[in-house]
Amino acid sequence: MKQVAVLGATGSIGASALDVIARHPDRFRAGVLSAHRNVDALVELCARFRPELAIIADPALEGALARKLKAAGLPTAAAAGADALTEAAAGPLCDTVLAAIVGAAGLASTLAAARAGKRLLLANKESAVMAGPLLLEALRAGGGVLVPVDSEHNAIFQCLPGGRPELDRAGVRRLILTASGGPFRGRTRADLAAVTPDQACAHPNWRMGRKISVDSATLMNKGLEVIEAHVLFGAAPEAIDVVVHPQSLLHSLVEYTDGSVLAELGNPDMRTALAHALAWPERVEAGVVPLDLAARAQLGFERPDTDTFRCLPLAYQALRAGGDAPALLNAANEIAVEAFLAGALPFLAIADVIEATLAELPPSPVVDAETLVHRDLTARDTARRIMRRAFC
Ligand code: NDP
Repeated sequence: MKQVAVLGATGSIGASALDVIARHPDRFRAGVLSAHRNVDALVELCARFRPELAIIADPALEGALARKLKAAGLPTAAAAGADALTEAAAGPLCDTVLAAIVGAAGLASTLAAARAGKRLLLANKESAVMAGPLLLEALRAGGGVLVPVDSEHNAIFQCLPGGRPELDRAGVRRLILTASGGPFRGRTRADLAAVTPDQACAHPNWRMGRKISVDSATLMNKGLEVIEAHVLFGAAPEAIDVVVHPQSLLHSLVEYTDGSVLAELGNPDMRTALAHALAWPERVEAGVVPLDLAARAQLGFERPDTDTFRCLPLAYQALRAGGDAPALLNAANEIAVEAFLAGALPFLAIADVIEATLAELPPSPVVDAETLVHRDLTARDTARRIMRRAFC
């Protein structure tokens, strides 16, 4: 029986993970659930899964959470704040941590889980992007295992020989990440000048939270994934390629030196990657509709349009620059996406803000989490200042 802490339980990944967990009460138990501010949704999940602990990240809502749990007659204890998340991630109520908080807010609990040697199911790609070297060091120190949840990295994990092999020795030539192209595939810059947040969030194949949906529309999601692949699998930037595959049936590929290309396929449903990560090295039923290739008929592939979707080359640029440049890229992106979702920044300006932030802040080496958080805040301030100057 695996005791799972679902951090980010009220989100899209949280919902898919809890769906898989509910299908296997003999194998998995959700012992800890967390949310940011959504107390009611968290209490509803507590009524269904009866965890030992519920955490609300916003400390101002601890009283409300405790009251509502009590009013519902639930035995679940309430806690609040960022420290409660890191303590739970490292604590005795779980052996497995699903890191499904969105954005940099997920970093501390992800690192805490890795350091404590938990089985880490990583959805929060921003942690790997921001703090790759620290995450790897924490995993080494903790001696636990990381199974990627991001469907592309989960696919690559499945197509590689076990663990985190040395790619050269394993005969790997390239990792090929697939991208759906998002809702704006095939559009020109002129088409994108006035697109709205709702249009950007209308992903053709996946239902996801709003931040990652915008990242998919700008192709920054793929850029973050290129950096994540570099961290998780140790591939050089030039050995990571991106191909647009609009049907999202092929979730990524590994090319070997003998010409073999291995891919993982399935219908686009995050429960596949989550069930794989939860049960690995075993397999469990995930509730996913089986893939009917003949009915799908076509698998299409094309090169990404990096002139229109500039966030992808910016991510490669940050990866090649090294040091904390990926963290600066991630911070500027979070600020720009937040402003776009609030209607305060045009879609195409997201890339401009990120580019200008990277130009103002030369990278520094990644030393420790405190310095990184400080640099993250500096990049956020810089991005805000750039936005005020250019767009307000
Ligand atoms: P959602 O926005 O749907 O959910 C985010 C979750 O994190 C919610 O539980 C939210 O709580 C919580 N949260 C938000 N802000 C904070 C904060 N400051 N502190 C603590 N908790 C917080 O996101 P997704 O589920 O779509 O994505 C989660 C992560 O998984 C992201 O890193 C994303 O990139 C990654 N991912 C997502 C995929 C998908 O298909 N959705 C696919 C692959 C990766 P509340 O409900 O209270 O706001």
